Amino acid sequence: MEISYKYIRTKELMSLDIVLKNAKIFTSSGPIEGDIGIKDGKIVKIGDIQEQYIKTIDLSGKYVIPGLIDGHTHMEFPFMSEITADDFYYGTKASIAGGVTTIVDFVTPSHGQDLISAYEKWRGNADPKVVSDYGLHMIIREINSNVLEQIPSVINKGVVSFKLFMAYKNELMLPDGDLYKLIKKISDFGGVTGIHAENGEIINELIQEFLKEGKVEPIYHYYSRPDILEIEATNRIASIASLVGKDVKMYIVHTSTGEAVDIISNYRKMGYKFFNETTPHYLTLNTEMLKRPDAFRYVMSPPLRSDEQRTKLWYRLASGDIFTIGSDHCVYSDLQKKRHMEKVPPFNEIPNGVPGTETILPLLYYFGVKKGIISMERFIEVTSLNPAKLFGLYPQKGTIMPGSDADFAIIDPEKKVRISPDVLHSNIDYTIYDGVEVEGWNVMTMRRGEIVYEEGQVIGKKGSGKYIPGKTPIMM
Ligand SMILES: [Zn+2]
Repeated sequence: MEISYKYIRTKELMSLDIVLKNAKIFTSSGPIEGDIGIKDGKIVKIGDIQEQYIKTIDLSGKYVIPGLIDGHTHMEFPFMSEITADDFYYGTKASIAGGVTTIVDFVTPSHGQDLISAYEKWRGNADPKVVSDYGLHMIIREINSNVLEQIPSVINKGVVSFKLFMAYKNELMLPDGDLYKLIKKISDFGGVTGIHAENGEIINELIQEFLKEGKVEPIYHYYSRPDILEIEATNRIASIASLVGKDVKMYIVHTSTGEAVDIISNYRKMGYKFFNETTPHYLTLNTEMLKRPDAFRYVMSPPLRSDEQRTKLWYRLASGDIFTIGSDHCVYSDLQKKRHMEKVPPFNEIPNGVPGTETILPLLYYFGVKKGIISMERFIEVTSLNPAKLFGLYPQKGTIMPGSDADFAIIDPEKKVRISPDVLHSNIDYTIYDGVEVEGWNVMTMRRGEIVYEEGQVIGKKGSGKYIPGKTPIMM
């Protein structure tokens, strides 16, 4: 990309800091050819720009899209006796390199910890390290003395979305009664409830059965979490939430089955504000990965599913039934995945989680848009517009229009890349997409008008990202 500077006398200095020239600009309502004028980190003008400006970037042949919003990351996440390998610095470097300008991470209180102090701890971890901008969700793992009373204060801090678990017995799972109480309370104050929908009780039974029979290999991770347990939990939580009422705003995180999407779509047709998120790994990988020698790297929950399910998800993404794409970026090193042992531990002891924030764009663009399965407009909707609305960040984030933050991913649609750890930025030395060849790659990231990634290098400074408090979620 050609960057040129004009030195103009101070008295002639016009309103614009940077102009992106000759860009093909994509928004959720279609492409526009023209220039984008930026001032103080905001978009101020779109169209043919003739005014004075200091710096031009010629983007001929490139696509400009809204910076992605990855609404599902776990940086510095304490889980299964490990803390994820990507802290807020490494993790958001990876995001920025992948064209993700905002992440929404999960505050995870420890047992007995109150929500506000957990929020403050997360801000303390993130603020000095983030390169991308970020928002926060709040995980609620138990109803202790004052959790219910704290929900309005959490929302006042800009944490408008919550996450409740129906799985991970004895760690994060909540009983149905607590799910009901929490959804009601969150809804009363206008928040959004995210749900990890898998039947944790039955999963626990299946795990015990397999272990007793000596079936410990990673593939049993899949067999212990069959499709039907996601479908059942989705159906159950939709029933519970529908009892609370039509004002409930709920979304099912990382949906891995077409049937779970259909349950939620049917409720939406009845007027409920229920939605689904899925992740790129459920769209691009399958259960076979759990038979590889490095299968331990592919352990996440819900597990990778059949090609039949993968196809069902693509169809539902194309039809608009899937609302958002998040990565569920939750990275462990090989050492952590193996619990610091030589041998791979039994499947139920492998920390759950995979990298993903940096590869949302190339995977979804290549396997979705380039292959003709989804339109560019859908791509933009699910990766920026919809998450911005759902998490109360719109219109500051998630769109290209005057007044919005100048957050862009700039795609070279012809660039061919073979994915390997060398081209990625996480704090681990592997990728679950090793050897996958894609066409279309993020070549520049701009965050609030600043170039933070270019030519493979993250140049954004540690701590230069900002906390973006969520406002009222918008659900269609
Ligand atoms: Zn997650």
